[in-house]
Order: sequence, then C-alpha cells, then structure tokens
Amino acid sequence: MRGVIMHAPGDVRIEERDHPQIIDPTDAVIRIVAACVCGSDLWPYRGADTPDAKLMGHEYVGVVEEIGEEVSTLSVGDFVVGSFVISDNTCPICTAGYQSRCVNGIFVDGAIGTQAEYARIPHADGTLVATPGHPDDDLIPSLLAASDVLGTGWFAADAAEVGPGSSVAVIGDGAVGLMGVLAARQMGAETIIAMSRHKDRQRLAREFGATHIVADRGDAGVAAIKELTDGLGVDSAIEAVGTQESMMQAIRATRPGGHIGYVGVSHDVALPGDELFFGLVHLHGGPAPVRRYLPELIDLIWTRTIDPGRVFDMRLPLDEAAEAYAAMDERRAIKVLLTP
Ligand SMILES: [Zn+2]
Repeated sequence: MRGVIMHAPGDVRIEERDHPQIIDPTDAVIRIVAACVCGSDLWPYRGADTPDAKLMGHEYVGVVEEIGEEVSTLSVGDFVVGSFVISDNTCPICTAGYQSRCVNGIFVDGAIGTQAEYARIPHADGTLVATPGHPDDDLIPSLLAASDVLGTGWFAADAAEVGPGSSVAVIGDGAVGLMGVLAARQMGAETIIAMSRHKDRQRLAREFGATHIVADRGDAGVAAIKELTDGLGVDSAIEAVGTQESMMQAIRATRPGGHIGYVGVSHDVALPGDELFFGLVHLHGGPAPVRRYLPELIDLIWTRTIDPGRVFDMRLPLDEAAEAYAAMDERRAIKVLLTP
C-alpha cells in the first residue's frame, strides 16, 4: 500500500509500505477514506523537529476491513472516526477523560501514519468510534475534522471553560483556532474575538461565529482585546499556536480568574513566574483527549448542527501529498484533505 514518509525537512514522499495486519486481538485494520495534513506536520517540515523516515499523518476516517477477536464495539464495514492518539479508554487516565495520555497511549503520528491507504489501529474499541451509518460524501470532511482539529479546538474551548455569555479570545487562525471559534460559538459564548491577519481566515472565522477580529499582536493585540472587554480582558482564551508570543498573548489577554485552554504544540515556551503569579489565570491544555468528545462531535455533525468541514479549502489525491504540505507551508491553503 502507499503511504507518506517524511525523510527530512521539506522532503515528503509517497512510498510503498507493508499492508497492515492484525497483530493483537484488540486491533482493527481500516481502509482510510480521507486523511489530511495537520499544522503540527509543518513543524518537522520546517525543520523544528527532526523527521527521520517518519510515517506521517494522524487524522483519519475510514472503513473497518478486519478486526481482532477481542474487538467488541466495531464490525467489519463500519465507518469510523479515530483520534490522533491510540487509547484503551479503560485505564484510570482515560476514565478521567484524558485519553490522549492513556497509559497504553501511542501517537498515531510517527508510529502508524494515516496519510496512507490502510492503517492498523491498536486498541480499536478505545480509539475508534463508528458513525450511525455510512455517511453522505459531504459529511466526510466534517467527520475527518473531528479526528483532530475540531476535537482539539473543542477541548481548548472546554478547558478554557467557555460557556453561555462568556467572552473568548482565540489566538491562532490555523484550522485549530478556527475550530476553537466554532466550539466557542456552539458553547454559547457571546463575544468571540479571533486574532488573525489573513483576510481569508478572518472571513472563515466570521462564518464560524467570531464577533470581532483583532489583527494586532503583542501589546497592541492585548490592548485591543481589553478595549472590547471593558478593560478587563476575556473570560477565556484559546491558545492554538504554541509559541512564547502566543502563550503570553493568551495570559495577558485573560482577566484575573479567567481560563486559558492551550493546544498549540509547545515549542520552547518558558512562562515567567511573576506574570503567572499576578495573572491569576487558570491554565489547562496539552494534546487534546479527542476520544472523549468523539461521540458528541459525531452526533453534532451527523445531525448537521455544525459544519466544521469548511475548514478544508483544498483537496488533493494522496499521491500529491508533497504539494499538500507545500500549500500549507506557503499558506496557500488552510488545511488540505487527502484522498487515497
Ligand atoms: Zn487509557
């Protein structure tokens, strides 16, 4: 079967790989129907991490081809959405709702790589959720979004304790930030401030529910947010970048007592103790436990209550994965859907 391998920064190739097989009785093998390129795939692509023949891809929807004898919640032929971390969904960490740090957790990225035709999914019951039936084609992008970017934006809004009437700042206008806007809207936020400098992303943020756009960054960005919130700062901030600048933007834009959900993969962030101390904000974040939210998100998509699939603004065949990476790296695309 074919799959995407990153050999070095900027070097993305589609290559023949072994067809996955059932190894453990809790495994499933799925045929990937759609996959995509994640903003986090751009870190190694740009050389921030060192990819060494890395199996790429961690967002996926597909059809179950084969199951191990202990798999009980799935059947061959089911359409499934999976999360980007393998989880048993039974250990104490999973039971508490933090499946992305399952004691048996495996990051799909690197270990499995779902920018491919097929994938072996360990702990299939604890990782995959079947949809109520085979979805209409137009639902597939939204279901794929649930696999990571929507689930991550949702967790960020939940971790930031967004609720009815609250004010929210979303830092980062990539796919996750845009999904954070959608989540905040769905959770009843009244003021949703999207921080973005890019016209196409500003427009999409408005479509997903942003009430205000702030193009400034740094101190000017914080001042603009305070001006929109009676000088206090927001109740909740969603941090969806992972840099020092974006984390400090979130902390400084949030009022004392407020909450920050941070989901941008942290790269060299060091928080100053004095600002943390006097900021008096709650910080809660990390790799999103997408599996916790999948049943609810699938239901919202299935009933067409939300339409997160609009975040995909380019589609390419899997064979053109290199172009998909380049388009996202050069910001010609927000998010690229790949079909094997
Ligand atoms: Zn677990």
